[in-house]
Amino acid sequence: MFISILPHGRMLLIALAVILTASTAAVCADSLFQGDEAAPADAVVLFDGKDLSKFVSCDSGGPATWKVVDGYCTPKGADICSKQHFKDCQLHAEFWVPYMPNKTGQGRGNSGVFFMGFVYEIQILDSYGLVPKNNDCGSIYSQTPPKINACRPPETWQSYDIIFKAPRFDSAGKKIANARVTVLQNGVLVQDNVAITSPTPNHSDPEPKEAGPIRLQNHGDAVRFRNVWVRPL
Ligand code: MG
Repeated sequence: MFISILPHGRMLLIALAVILTASTAAVCADSLFQGDEAAPADAVVLFDGKDLSKFVSCDSGGPATWKVVDGYCTPKGADICSKQHFKDCQLHAEFWVPYMPNKTGQGRGNSGVFFMGFVYEIQILDSYGLVPKNNDCGSIYSQTPPKINACRPPETWQSYDIIFKAPRFDSAGKKIANARVTVLQNGVLVQDNVAITSPTPNHSDPEPKEAGPIRLQNHGDAVRFRNVWVRPL
């Protein structure tokens, strides 16, 4: 009855709005998140809590030796490297650092996420409550501290959403653009399209021209990872 008394033009607008709302909802349901911890439909899921079949031991190239427990993985043996290699990509990883009150600095919940192999590290550490330095959680390790400290307390699940851009080279092999990275830690922007000027473990190493693995670090601490996925860009 309400609709019947509206002018035709307004009825048309209402009908269009209903159609647009319904179609947008359908697209979102098909292509975006199904829930907080689900990967997008086009993601390469590296670890879904079940097994480490998408990784190898970085040292031996054989099966990854980390333990999988209750939907997360935790270091045992060498760092693990994704079998699939990437250049530009978006990475999501959730991590948990142990409470280690008797340790300080780099000895407290250390791990990291590396891009293009053992080259560019985004640090993982228990840096909760600290004024962040360039080796704290959220840093481009030993280069750039996070804009703010976005850490949750230890033994709390946290997230990284990282957009990584590989360095560019000209046809003669000369670098013409640095690698760049944007990092959100727990949804907070901590690195905003920042240049990575050299490899972070050893600043004098040559930078990679080819795609490389995502590498998760065993620094000797009982960190945990879950829900790791990548979207090549
Ligand atoms: Mg580290």
